[in-house]
Amino acid sequence: MAFGNPFTRWVYDHSPMFFRSFMATVYSRGRGQRKFGPKFEEHLADLERTQWYAAAELRALQEEKLRRVLWQAERHVPFYRGKFAEWGVTARQLRQRSDLTRLPIVEKSTVQANPATFRSALYLEPSSVEIIHSSGTTGKAIDVAVEAGYLKLEKAFLWLQRQWCGVKPGDRTAYFTGHPVVPVARRRPPFWVFDGSEKRTFFSLQHLSKDNLPAYAAELARFNPLLLVGYPTAIYFMALHLCESGITSVRPRGIFTASETLLPHQREAMERAFGCKVMDLYGQAEYCGMIMQCEQGSYHIAEEYGVLEILGRDGQPAPAGEIGEIVCTGLNNLAMPFIRYRTGDTAVPKTGTCSCGRAGALVERITGRLEDVVVTPDGRFLSRLDFVFKEMPQVLEAQMIQEARDFLRIRIVPRPGFSEADKARITRNLRERAGNEMRFEFELVDHIPRLPNGKFRYVISKVPLEFGTARQTGEVIGAAGREA
Ligand SMILES: [Zn+2]
Repeated sequence: MAFGNPFTRWVYDHSPMFFRSFMATVYSRGRGQRKFGPKFEEHLADLERTQWYAAAELRALQEEKLRRVLWQAERHVPFYRGKFAEWGVTARQLRQRSDLTRLPIVEKSTVQANPATFRSALYLEPSSVEIIHSSGTTGKAIDVAVEAGYLKLEKAFLWLQRQWCGVKPGDRTAYFTGHPVVPVARRRPPFWVFDGSEKRTFFSLQHLSKDNLPAYAAELARFNPLLLVGYPTAIYFMALHLCESGITSVRPRGIFTASETLLPHQREAMERAFGCKVMDLYGQAEYCGMIMQCEQGSYHIAEEYGVLEILGRDGQPAPAGEIGEIVCTGLNNLAMPFIRYRTGDTAVPKTGTCSCGRAGALVERITGRLEDVVVTPDGRFLSRLDFVFKEMPQVLEAQMIQEARDFLRIRIVPRPGFSEADKARITRNLRERAGNEMRFEFELVDHIPRLPNGKFRYVISKVPLEFGTARQTGEVIGAAGREA
């Protein structure tokens, strides 16, 4: 649990299990009042209604929110107040979302250099805002200011999606989300903590190892959650163990993954092990864009949450089926608005509509962080390299390290039966996409280290990428986190 206070953290780490649960419950109850309550229910009821808006209605709602954000940013946010004049536009001239393209893209490094200038003058009173510290996957994280009470809306969006599989707020939930719930040095179970105020159990990811998996599985079966929420790599680990041990007693109604790219083989294993659907979600710490997977399996852009653009290498909207970079304008947080903000994430847009009946743009798949992309010697981008390990149960985990434009180091955690023939097959699979100029080297390891926040990196690239308008300005995107 992230108590924020070193003393309470120390007491928590040195307490017996029952007292840890007690502390977690009390802490969460305090926070819970900020997140749930009548306002949360009101937001959720609004979203339940507007999710069925027809495309034109949804567009009107989005543009109304957009005009409000732009208007407030121009008047009250120092960075934008100066920039609108410099860019030669006024908020009044920007009436619809297509007008947004008249504004340049804002880089993360610009916000990091001077975050205070992104804060609205209307929300400077400490009581009017909450400061959210994100762990940040790479580079320096940004502390984001949100309006007091904003988290109730954020939570309403999450629960809107969760309700699509027949659960409701307050149902028993198991979290695999990287919270430091027990001291890292701990060797014996429990590796989890129960929060009674919201009926949640947080499972530690730092202790999720082969030896400890049986204890995790026993606790999961005993707790019997209705939902599983967390990083795909962690829940996939659990799924493999349950399948191999023949445990079929853990039967949640839905699994909700986020924060890492969900790969097809992980989804398949999780659905098999837990007997329910996996529904994925994309969001980011700046609260400016969201993509939700529905019960029919389609990825929907949450149009009420943000204006989410997917831009190709030329800075224009990426065509359907082609990878592009996600640029977001948040519509709900007026305390620190992000307008045309380069997220560093990538996705593939899709045309058409979904049979679930919800309007709004679709995304074919989310392709991960920009630095999760391998660039080939001839300049093509390869993402989601899971096809390389397709139908290879001998590979438990794999990570690619792009050392140079023509050199990939492939780190593999092998399972019994892994052989030279597998290496040859992986090389063949890679050559098909990456071309013959790419060289490969294999490194067999017992374990692939996670980032401090428990997340897994599929690709570590030491090669600068050139993408979108950054290429025109000569700026290298993602350089801050490139060394991982
Ligand atoms: Zn749908």
